[in-house]
Amino acid sequence: MFRTRTNGELTLKNLNEEVTLSGWVQTIRDKGFMIWIDLRDRYGITQLVFDQERSTAALMEEAKELGREFVIQVQGNVIERASKNPKIPTGEIEILVSDLKILNASELPPFTIEDDTDGGEELRMKYRYLDIRRNPVKDKLIFRHKMAQKVRNYLSDEGFIEVETPVLIKSTPEGARDFVVPSRMNPGQFYALPQSPQTFKQLLMVGGMDKYFQIVKCFRDEDLRADRQPEFTQIDCEMAFVEQEDIMNVFEGMTKTLLKDITGKDFQDFPRMTFADAMKTYGNDKPDIRFGMEFHELNDLTKGKDFKIFDDAELVVGINVEGAAEYTRKQIDELTNWVKRPQIGAFGMVWVKYQADGTITSSVNKFYSEEDLKKIVEEFGAKAGDLMLILSGSENKVRTQLSALRMELGNRLGLRKADEFAPLWVIDFPLLEWDEETGRYHAMHHPFTSPKTEDFSLLETDPGKARANAYDLVLNGNEIGGGSIRIFDKELQSKMFDLLGFTKEEAEAQFGFLMNAFKYGAPPHGGLAFGFDRLVAILDGNEVIRDYIAFPKNNSGRDVMIDAPAPIAEAQLGELELKLDLKN
Ligand code: ASP
Repeated sequence: MFRTRTNGELTLKNLNEEVTLSGWVQTIRDKGFMIWIDLRDRYGITQLVFDQERSTAALMEEAKELGREFVIQVQGNVIERASKNPKIPTGEIEILVSDLKILNASELPPFTIEDDTDGGEELRMKYRYLDIRRNPVKDKLIFRHKMAQKVRNYLSDEGFIEVETPVLIKSTPEGARDFVVPSRMNPGQFYALPQSPQTFKQLLMVGGMDKYFQIVKCFRDEDLRADRQPEFTQIDCEMAFVEQEDIMNVFEGMTKTLLKDITGKDFQDFPRMTFADAMKTYGNDKPDIRFGMEFHELNDLTKGKDFKIFDDAELVVGINVEGAAEYTRKQIDELTNWVKRPQIGAFGMVWVKYQADGTITSSVNKFYSEEDLKKIVEEFGAKAGDLMLILSGSENKVRTQLSALRMELGNRLGLRKADEFAPLWVIDFPLLEWDEETGRYHAMHHPFTSPKTEDFSLLETDPGKARANAYDLVLNGNEIGGGSIRIFDKELQSKMFDLLGFTKEEAEAQFGFLMNAFKYGAPPHGGLAFGFDRLVAILDGNEVIRDYIAFPKNNSGRDVMIDAPAPIAEAQLGELELKLDLKN
């Protein structure tokens, strides 16, 4: 037997017990006549002691051979510690070792395997298996597991069936590039890895499964932004004979259950906001509503005063930063430079201060009288001591810029508290999005999303105005889930492909299987998918999804531990009947 106990469980209650423990050597304190070792496993740390007075000389010698991360097995007696460590559960005892066996030696690890490590990110990724031994990483994986269990239990209790769908498939249009896999048995042909199981879950509804879910890997070949992974996990769900309201109820319930588990609190029904309102009020379709700082549009109050920049702007819009009137010139300049960075792209920022003493000053005093400024302050509903920041420009751009500024200030002012949760639904998304570059419509969610019944006729007259039966669940400024009611009528689906610029032949080649299925009694259906990695990170008060993935990829999509992607052997290419002829 390698162990009778784990390293996280022994306390004073176990005094004088004979135990066998196994684990890794975390630290060694060698005083010559006494040696202390912290022995670690997944469950915790137990202190071992070797003592000249009480241990044999041979055992002392053996203990001196140990190094960090050696895997050892010890036998010994549980004794009370002289100097106790209240920070760990086993901190009142130690093991007086009577027998030591080295199960495996270790080279000196490339970084210290402790909560605070000296290892940088790249190094820890390269040796991820060592990183996983550290509590901060290990605990996140355990947290993820717990959340997955809760989700499975909740959905099973609600009558959902977990069904696996294939990984080698044909393209699913979710707006990203596909990863492709060459087929040896069908030379020159390729599978695509699923961007999501979208069409399969719809086919499961045609198949009568009624309620489906799957915790499933999805693959999207996108340029990686800071916190995206080319392969990620979804809680993917679909239901038949439902309307939008039914779906939102089930998944609001699931989210409340998870939130209750974490916070101990019962959450009220989640607020709902239309896409149009979210854009108008926060410049963002995934607003962080843990804090206010709503947008105020100022066109009426600012135009016609000879301030050319505002006169020429499509939109003048600002936010009120409460209590920030005391910002110095330097601080405001710094913020101005922040919004002028190319990533944000504003060409300037106007400020209005409602000073604590009641006077109003601004960077545009030349153009606006005290009376004008007062009206602006009133529009913001500002109080003495507040600072108003105003941007202007073309509507869409300026909303995005101001949204970025709002989030930045939210961060700087500590308004985005990790242990506070503010969920909401964003609904009534536009069905289509016009793409200037290609000169055609894209599906805002995906091509299987149903327009609102009352907007059907707009498909003929003004498709860009049609709204979709689509909804996103937003938590703390992140989209954590999104879905829609689907088209289940063959004609409507065919019309949709039309609108999206597919020829009949293309639609048939790519989605013939789905259109075919719709000929055989497809039930009304809809669903959604949660981004599981992100959901878990946010629930754990974090936003970095990489930390919650055992073996993540870096920002260039590489796994630096196994060194992938990598070339394949000539023979392997041969089997696939492929020859490389790289463009660059
Ligand atoms: N397949 C969609 C996605 O991955 C979710 C859904 O519509 O259910 O975003």
